[in-house]
Amino acid sequence: MDVSEVSGVPPWFADHLREEGIESLYPPQAEAVEAGVADGQSLVASVPTASGKTLIAQLAMLSAVSRGGKALYIVPLRALASEKREEFAAFEEYGVSIGVSTGNYEDDGEWLAEKDIIVATSEKVDSLVRNGAPWIGDLDCVVSDEVHLVDDPNRGPTLEVTLAKLRRVNPNLQVVALSATVGNAEVMAEWLDAALVDSEWRPIDLRKGVHYGQALHFDDGSQQELRVKSSEKPTEAIVRDTLSDGGSTLVFVNSRRNAEGAAKRLANTTTGWLDDEEKARLAEIAEELRGVSDTETSDDLADCVEKGAAFHHAGCASEHRSLVEDAFRDRLIKVVSATPTLAAGVNTPSRRVVVRDWRRYSGEAGGMQPLSVLEVHQMMGRAGRPGRDPYGEALLLANSHDELDELFERYVWADPEAVESKLAREPSMRTHLLATVASGFADSREALLEFLDQTLYATQYRQGTDGTDNLERVVDSTLEYLRANDFIEDDGERIQATNLGHTVSRLYLDPMSAAEIIDGLEAASNPTALGLFHLVSRTPDMYELYLRSGDREEYTMLAYERESEFCGDLPSEFEEERFDDWLSALKTARMLEDWAGEVDEDEITERYGVGPGDIRGKVDTAEWLLGAAESLASELDLATVPAVREARKRVQHGVGEELIDLAGVRGVGRKRARRLFDAGIETRADLREADKSVVLGALRGRTKTAENVLEAAGHQSPSMDGVRPDEGARPAEEPTDAAGSDDGEGQSSLGDF
Ligand code: ADP
Repeated sequence: MDVSEVSGVPPWFADHLREEGIESLYPPQAEAVEAGVADGQSLVASVPTASGKTLIAQLAMLSAVSRGGKALYIVPLRALASEKREEFAAFEEYGVSIGVSTGNYEDDGEWLAEKDIIVATSEKVDSLVRNGAPWIGDLDCVVSDEVHLVDDPNRGPTLEVTLAKLRRVNPNLQVVALSATVGNAEVMAEWLDAALVDSEWRPIDLRKGVHYGQALHFDDGSQQELRVKSSEKPTEAIVRDTLSDGGSTLVFVNSRRNAEGAAKRLANTTTGWLDDEEKARLAEIAEELRGVSDTETSDDLADCVEKGAAFHHAGCASEHRSLVEDAFRDRLIKVVSATPTLAAGVNTPSRRVVVRDWRRYSGEAGGMQPLSVLEVHQMMGRAGRPGRDPYGEALLLANSHDELDELFERYVWADPEAVESKLAREPSMRTHLLATVASGFADSREALLEFLDQTLYATQYRQGTDGTDNLERVVDSTLEYLRANDFIEDDGERIQATNLGHTVSRLYLDPMSAAEIIDGLEAASNPTALGLFHLVSRTPDMYELYLRSGDREEYTMLAYERESEFCGDLPSEFEEERFDDWLSALKTARMLEDWAGEVDEDEITERYGVGPGDIRGKVDTAEWLLGAAESLASELDLATVPAVREARKRVQHGVGEELIDLAGVRGVGRKRARRLFDAGIETRADLREADKSVVLGALRGRTKTAENVLEAAGHQSPSMDGVRPDEGARPAEEPTDAAGSDDGEGQSSLGDF
């Protein structure tokens, strides 16, 4: 089917696609059109990875826009929001405006009211709905990308409830749900009252197989020799074999450490296959990577990339990740070893995919667990670049004949699992019930049940096998919890959120985090920054650092040493689980204290065994939770408000108390603030009046930086023309760096935003 034959889609779209090399629709796309996706029909498309789901979404959105409507595209990851934005940016020249909303949770996004297509994460959409963004009621079409993630225990429930709310606000809403192939696509279609396209079609053949011994064993029964030399590991042999045929390899492993280790080893294989031009271009990319941040991760990645290999995981900064993805697509980088973040939608096809590790450590299970079929198939689906490769190959690795058989049974021949709602988990139910009451979606038990009947949970589990109503059971126990903690009040008929409940919902907190924070603040008379960092770190909204061997002793000692600083009493060591939780929170709090004590990022990564992206994650979460604690303390009129505010600002800027003012000036950041302070410029006001040569000296002679900083501070004449740096103000201990590369100043060096 040709795109120009699709009625309802704007005429320019076919031309645009032709420019992109897309002449006719792929079969699942044609099925979607026949099902009415360009005429406002809701649709679930359960289609393999890389089979053109985005185009199905575009047909729906652009036809809605050309009918005068407005569309929303929900992505599961922030990284994907920018990727989609770039993809849709091409529509702007045809008059379709695009907006992206991923930022601050409390922003109500009014400017988005003007946009035709909005891209946002599910968390962001949930918060926009809660805060009553007015344009939510104007939506005609909503796309939910990677909708099989409703199965995810942490993030799925938000997506599920958000879709139910959007449909309730807009009864005629077209919902287009894009999913990997799953075991029960028909249940999702039933949930969303949607037509179903359930297809196995792929644009390029995929051969699945297992490497064992000296051969590849494929799903069609064929075998192909692939010798592993005695000095090699199987993955190295596969990468070498692929290179000899001019192809690239994507290797999936189960941890960040393994991703880095594999890339370092595989770099020794790829390096011999690079020509001079490739070497020169890779050296440039390596230089850019080093400039992203002054951490070991940056340096290690750059070292690998120079040799044609790379790693890719959530601990890398987002700039690292996009540089690696681009260079891999340009075929400069020959092998990428990745944790499954890369499988989740970033479009980086490769001739061969190796799923090296099929087990992963699970904290909940307390050991190694096999990956799901769905995950493994998604990774495998990245194999084969249409138009470039004859076919893609996806391989698992076996160590024994038994394992060879097991992998065939478990993954190669297996069907993907069914998606299951996780909404009934306690943290999800607490959060979403309160939000639903607070935002006025429901004001009685009956209304809540009616609303929740539109969720996947209700479609799947409302009726228990023994005839009980599961939805009633979880709703009743959750309402009880919210009532007991004063988040809602209930006169037997009408349920309303209390002022506190409204605040908690607006702040986007798990009600249990709010209860913990309130108890802690009420128990603390004079909390220190560490005490407050600890308080927010022990809430269920903070993902704590793990205790490693040896940590328990160290942090137990620290807990007793600094006992007086905590908000609330140290639990007894006999309550083992609670005590360990307290220690993990202490480790996290200690990391935040180091950050706010101006310890170098690199030293922090080493001390706590984390990546720069992890520090960024913890810092962001702490800043948000301390902001929430500040609001709760004001709401309850507690005396701790100023202490909480100060702790928040210190974590926000990563500085000691005396630098808060300076670090708040745009473009200053933690390192520059310290340099200015040491040169005698201690406040924003000082900066405004400062002697320019001192500023230039303190900023190591960087004219442009100095001008920007002075301008941001409101200096009358920020120009540095003719100003010479005062050498006395130049920071002594740091060498002036060569080549003018950025020196990782300020928070921007911390990676993923
Ligand atoms: P998915 O979301 O299913 O993983 P994408 O939508 O990212 O896959 O599509 C994968 C690739 O296929 C993209 O590079 C896209 O441009 C290309 N593509 C999509 N539809 C067609 C088509 N009808 N003809 C040719 N290429 C297509």
